[in-house]
Amino acid sequence: MVKTLGLLLASVMLIAGVYYFRQQSQKPAQEIHYHAGYEVYKDGALQDFSDLKYMDMEPCVEGEKEEEEKEEHDLDLHDGIGNVAHVHGEGVTWRKLFEYLRQDYPDASVTAYMNGVKLDQVLDKKMNAYDRGVFFVGEDSEQQKHIDESMQRITKDYIVRIEKKGESCTK
Ligand SMILES: [Zn+2]
Repeated sequence: MVKTLGLLLASVMLIAGVYYFRQQSQKPAQEIHYHAGYEVYKDGALQDFSDLKYMDMEPCVEGEKEEEEKEEHDLDLHDGIGNVAHVHGEGVTWRKLFEYLRQDYPDASVTAYMNGVKLDQVLDKKMNAYDRGVFFVGEDSEQQKHIDESMQRITKDYIVRIEKKGESCTK
């Protein structure tokens, strides 16, 4: 009798477990979408990533996505804006941004100021919403001036403005 009851209990738990698991996996994944500002100075020169070739050209329409043809990015740029990254994945690092931009900067050549504070090993740091990163690749004799100028361009207000602009979009 006890054995039967135990077996019954085990079956109920198993069914409940399977049911719970199925419910969990059917739940749509939380859509990740946040924004971070950045600028890059290479050998003292501000880099421009607003060119069309840096943009994710996925049309701004919902549905009818051809999944197979679409290249999924954890991160991309939109609307001809070269200094605000749209993050769509979990745990996306700054390295991803430069991979996306196809800029292969050696780690040792990169100095970065995140929200005005110098940050080491920045490429392996996770990007956060409204981060404002200024990156120096190589030497720059006017670093402080460039940090100040960048921080005036990529303000939080600016990032929010870009974010709102893309609101009608799925990405
Ligand atoms: Zn966006």
